[in-house]
Amino acid sequence: MARYTGPSCRLCRREGVKLFLKGTRCSTEKCALSRRSFPPGQHGQNQMRKKTSNYGTQLREKQKVKRIYGVLEKQFRHCFRIAERAKGVTGLTLLQLLERRLDNVIFRANFASSRSEARELVQHGFVYVNNRRVDIPSYTVKTGEEVAIKTKKETFVKAIKDRRESLTDRVIPKWLDVDKTDPKIKIVDIPKKEDVGFQIQEQLIVELYSK
Ligand code: SF4
Repeated sequence: MARYTGPSCRLCRREGVKLFLKGTRCSTEKCALSRRSFPPGQHGQNQMRKKTSNYGTQLREKQKVKRIYGVLEKQFRHCFRIAERAKGVTGLTLLQLLERRLDNVIFRANFASSRSEARELVQHGFVYVNNRRVDIPSYTVKTGEEVAIKTKKETFVKAIKDRRESLTDRVIPKWLDVDKTDPKIKIVDIPKKEDVGFQIQEQLIVELYSK
């Protein structure tokens, strides 16, 4: 499955916001955006003075959302088409679809420090949905489903527990009911806009794709 393999901090610097792509490192002073808060590249600092067009603003918003969830253009556009066909507000449905991705659920429940780490857990076959192994990170969870991480390796179970304890500063959204002792999550609701945890103007993405 295709994914971005370049430097993560470059993406944050391009969007001008912390996208938290590197797990625990992002909350430390090592964060590249704290040290160099301008776009990457030779002319990065000059770009900050440029006026952005409407199209540019829409494009940046779309790129930001894609990068937050770690999806490439083709997958993102596919998600948008599903949202467009679904009932309801397209922009919000798009965000809900992205938020309900299996790798995102693992990340939001604090079982992984970043979405890319969560994606690996899924791809390596540690994640089960309603007792069935699912190794597709883009799988969309539904209300009522139970997601669990299963492994016989004691060290791995301990590593996940330690991770949860070390990520206490992250708020678990209300649509996920996370078991206090076992690595299990119950999907109890549909995510709301405020659950996303980022300032996103999803209508800009809709405008961009509607051209
Ligand atoms: Fe982004 Fe900072 Fe994390 Fe790098 S360390 S991925 S710049 S938030």
